Amino acid sequence: MSSILDYDLCSSDHISSLVQLTEFYASNNMIKCLPSSINKLVSLHSFDISHNNIEALCKELFSLIQIEVLNVSSNPLKEIPCHVKHLMKLNSLDVSSCHLRHLPSALGECSNLSTLLLNNNSISKLPSQLGQLVHISRLDVDGNKLQYLPYTLSFLSEKLMISVKDNPLLSETDYSKYTKNPLPVPYMLPSLKELTARYIIKMNIPNIDTLPVVLQEMLQKSSSCSECGRPVCEFYRGEMVTVNFSMRGDWLPLYKQLCSPHRPQGCG
Ligand SMILES: [Zn+2]
Repeated sequence: MSSILDYDLCSSDHISSLVQLTEFYASNNMIKCLPSSINKLVSLHSFDISHNNIEALCKELFSLIQIEVLNVSSNPLKEIPCHVKHLMKLNSLDVSSCHLRHLPSALGECSNLSTLLLNNNSISKLPSQLGQLVHISRLDVDGNKLQYLPYTLSFLSEKLMISVKDNPLLSETDYSKYTKNPLPVPYMLPSLKELTARYIIKMNIPNIDTLPVVLQEMLQKSSSCSECGRPVCEFYRGEMVTVNFSMRGDWLPLYKQLCSPHRPQGCG
């Protein structure tokens, strides 16, 4: 094992010579940034930069596609870049105590993740794409601002150990406030505005700030269908349901959205 302690990452470029380094432990220092030469650590499997003063993760970090364990907890990060999706071998990610308010939906593309630690942040909503993490067995979200979880997590409920202590979870008496387009009502088609917004999201069209304001506002409301994963904006059926996560016996509120709310055949 190779390891380095108390290394001045910001002011030194010597790191670029450590091409065979496999494990790098630099926790509990005063590191403020990662150098772009971090991308030279092409053998790195485990990287611990917890308990430092790093405000942003540089994009070069996400070129280290062989990383399996990444601990960036207790840094004032505020966000995880969407580049995280490039870490396809990532098995364990700890971003606890990082001042996070949001998570990127791209996290759902880290298909090897088995442990995701998000404790003690200010996250009010988890992306539904977390339901794509078929290997995840531990999800800790203690000490956040979650009122409910995405319904897609129910697909993982048999093997997922989830910890949600110290969150303002809804009680069943509040569920009705989250019901949208309840059945039965006649089947309706989405508006042209909704269909246009969905198409823009699906095609990943850039420069949305050049679009009409009405479409930009629509795109800001975007989320995903719980069943098929397609984008929705304003037109969907929404309901809060209670799901049992059997490993712990916990009954948790999950928010379910359907893209074709009243279509007899379901999604599509
Ligand atoms: Zn759907």
